[in-house]
Amino acid sequence: MSGPALMPAVVHYALRAGAVELREVPLPAPGPGKELLRVRGVSVCGSDIHQYHNTQSWPVNIPVVLGHEFCGEVAAIGSGVAGFAPGDRVASETAAEIDPDSPQTRAGAYNLDPRRRGFGYGIDGAMARCVRVPARCLHRLPDGLPFELAALTEPCCVAYQAVVVNSRVRPGDVVAVIGPGPIGLLCAHVARMCGAGAVVLAGLVQDRPRLQLGLRMGASHTVEAGEQDLAAVVASLGDGGGADLVVDAAGASAALQQAIACVRPGGQVTKVGWGPQPLGFSIDPLVQKAVMLQGSFSHTWPVWERVLRLLASGQLDPRPLVSRVAALAEWRSCFDAMAEGSLTKAVLVPE
Ligand SMILES: [Zn+2]
Repeated sequence: MSGPALMPAVVHYALRAGAVELREVPLPAPGPGKELLRVRGVSVCGSDIHQYHNTQSWPVNIPVVLGHEFCGEVAAIGSGVAGFAPGDRVASETAAEIDPDSPQTRAGAYNLDPRRRGFGYGIDGAMARCVRVPARCLHRLPDGLPFELAALTEPCCVAYQAVVVNSRVRPGDVVAVIGPGPIGLLCAHVARMCGAGAVVLAGLVQDRPRLQLGLRMGASHTVEAGEQDLAAVVASLGDGGGADLVVDAAGASAALQQAIACVRPGGQVTKVGWGPQPLGFSIDPLVQKAVMLQGSFSHTWPVWERVLRLLASGQLDPRPLVSRVAALAEWRSCFDAMAEGSLTKAVLVPE
């Protein structure tokens, strides 16, 4: 008798640095309410690299297939799934498991369900030939939206949720974004789409190539820490009163400190970057300036629908981010290049 059908997958198999490898794993079956997708594009996230280095600050259910930013074609349909047919082109949300009865899910905020488990750390993800997904996660791709671009829907949704859903940007506002990784770059892009008058993108000296990329994606000004002072640059813009909105897409304590320093009285700081370390500074200026500090996590169905339409129309254009499209077998060189900063984002295309 032959064994189960196998497929190649990038697997995080132990909780130690470097414990990720390309392996043959059993091909999943669709199962009730679920569909099997043939993965056509999966983009590499900073969180995949954290898991590769075992520096993540979230629980990982090893062994697990990495990858949560993906799209593909419906390959097989489980029982009880209506509305999809094999060959349909789709992108998938990331909340692989949610509690349908939690107060958050019932209110439509399933991204905040405490029992939510995502692809790539809690549930097998998409760095594989196929991935099993609940039908409720799927969105049809608009005609003409290529898979390589659709694979970037998820990080675009993170930025949309942070800048549009969880923040308010009005035309003419001064917006500062700290941290020019893919999410920071996309937040700068979305802030400009919202009509921001100036978008200041701040990073470290080693971020210079990404800051340059930011100028192509909607930033009007860039600031390199140590070269210029973010608060001084922000104070030179608009009415001089400070940033209406600061997006912390870095996560380190110093970024939040800078954010609180350059936000205007009555303004908002939206934190989308993670940082496990204690702050180590006083947030009294937040009190004195009556600043709103807002967290932002993940996204929900209506955000995906809007972002897919914006990607298809070209109004939202993340293409400058992608510096490499590679086969799944090239995962390691993509991860290493993103970790060292020579590559902003890679999209893997399983063979
Ligand atoms: Zn991600």
